[in-house]
Amino acid sequence: MGNSDTIVAGQVVGLRYTLRDAAGVWIDGSEDGEPLDYLHGAENLVPGLEKALLGHKVGDKLNVTVPPEDAYGLREGPGPQPVPREAFPGDAEIEEGMPFTVENEDGEEIDLWVVRVEDDQVFVDANHPLAGTTLCFDVEVMSIRAATAEEQMHGHPHGPDGHHHHN
Ligand code: ZN
Repeated sequence: MGNSDTIVAGQVVGLRYTLRDAAGVWIDGSEDGEPLDYLHGAENLVPGLEKALLGHKVGDKLNVTVPPEDAYGLREGPGPQPVPREAFPGDAEIEEGMPFTVENEDGEEIDLWVVRVEDDQVFVDANHPLAGTTLCFDVEVMSIRAATAEEQMHGHPHGPDGHHHHN
């Protein structure tokens, strides 16, 4: 596995990043001084960004534009559908952008996102909130190290002292 100083599968990589849409509107970013760690080759990142990082080394800065097809996909289906508020547990906090999982009649799990809440109705959509969006990343590679066997097995990096970061 990776003991190289370039990014390959099996490396835990620390990134500083800023994510904007094609119009330059800020979407997300690493906190000041708090790089995002990911495990390369484990689909922790959207495919287009992971592909672009392959072979880079610490200190490299990249501007990566990722079309929806290589990010969260194109928007599909009928769009947001209303669900009665009472279909959710009474103590559930329901917020715009909140993900949750339901089972369909065949017992398959389906990911849904809350689009908006109106009085006693919750509008949900099967599209990821960033589906259909072109993602523009400004990325700096901050660190590269070999993943531990446990990290490889879990498919994600652990923090210092083997602490779990499950997102
Ligand atoms: Zn884990």
